[in-house]
Amino acid sequence: MSNAKPLTAGKLPDAGKNKKIRNTRLLQITHNLSERVKELNCLYGISRLIENGNVNIDDILQGVVDLIPPAWQYPEITCARIKLENRDIKTRNFRKTVWCQSQAIIVDGNKFGTLEVCYLLEQPESDEGPFLKEERNLIRVIAERLGNMIEHKTAENNLKTLYRREQELHNKLQLEMQSRADLTRKLIHELKTPLTSLLASSQLLFEETRDKKMEKLAKHIWNGANNLNNRIDELHDFTRGEMGKLKLVLKKVDIVNLMQSIIEEAGALARQYGISIELEFTGPLPEIEADPDRIKQVVLNLINNACKYAREGRKITIKILNRTGSVLIEVKDHGSGIPQSRQINIFEPGYQIADSDSTTGGLGIGLALCKMLVELHGGKIWVDSTVGKGSSFFFTIPVKYKKQ
Ligand code: ADP
Repeated sequence: MSNAKPLTAGKLPDAGKNKKIRNTRLLQITHNLSERVKELNCLYGISRLIENGNVNIDDILQGVVDLIPPAWQYPEITCARIKLENRDIKTRNFRKTVWCQSQAIIVDGNKFGTLEVCYLLEQPESDEGPFLKEERNLIRVIAERLGNMIEHKTAENNLKTLYRREQELHNKLQLEMQSRADLTRKLIHELKTPLTSLLASSQLLFEETRDKKMEKLAKHIWNGANNLNNRIDELHDFTRGEMGKLKLVLKKVDIVNLMQSIIEEAGALARQYGISIELEFTGPLPEIEADPDRIKQVVLNLINNACKYAREGRKITIKILNRTGSVLIEVKDHGSGIPQSRQINIFEPGYQIADSDSTTGGLGIGLALCKMLVELHGGKIWVDSTVGKGSSFFFTIPVKYKKQ
């Protein structure tokens, strides 16, 4: 119809304007989104670099500076640099210009370096000079990630160095222990050879002589040689124990029978000191799985010490107690006792109480060897002592042996 009014008269120009605005907005949003995508790509690339355990720190830093330009608004004129205390890593085109933003790299709370991003040519003003506020956020996040990465890598490197040093020390120690063990073995052989004949000849002299003076002398020589022989055996066992070469020969052991036979054997020595040895136990006691010779060695050592350090005319009591899963043995004397402060180190090799009677002899490894032997069985050893009243040495042996 010719006189019909146009449908949206006067509205068309507005619609066109709106569409234009919408398009411009859309373009802006698309541009912004693609900028964010670039930033995310950059962060993703950096994460991948850092998390790849096979890349060294220099390659990571170079990778990071190379990932930066594509994430900024004008990639083709963007350059970057990471300047650390000991490194200066740049993109190939790096040149410091006035259009530059920088961010401190913090490691362990201290400034360790700087991350710089520069434009090579002047660009229109934006949020921070020619840079967007999002670019400030991005440079901050990258610097933060770099700081964390350096912290981690430094700790990791320190740990590796410590581990390597520890390995070196361990190997050195092994060698030293081996050469010490070799030397001790040679020394033991050298000492034992003449001692064996000394023991045999003093024994023979004692049996053959009718002269009381000579008999006493022969006994004296035999005691001295025997004492030395025991010390040498102790030293030998201890060295083997330190090298992990001391092995137990396990058997089912009736602990009461074993203690009775030990007391019988030690009786002669104790009598020399005017000391009697008593056994106390309350049954029933379980059979234990142990090395009877090594248990005997421990108990003889403790009796020997009790005789050496106890006053004459007193008794030594050996008590056996049943504990859950183990037996507890106590060797009690009424000797001089051990000061509290010195009880802590008493099981250390070479430890001798300074003011103990020097005539009693010994190398100070008797108790260390006892500890070693008890622990080889999976047991524990300790002392309870009061000066002037005496000492009780306790040790446990598990009923069932469990490999240590
Ligand atoms: P040693 O070869 O000197 O006897 P030990 O390791 O057997 O070495 O003993 C270490 C030190 O512990 C001894 O020098 C002694 O002073 C002290 N000691 C050990 N047993 C007793 C005890 N029953 N009473 C008092 N002191 C003791």
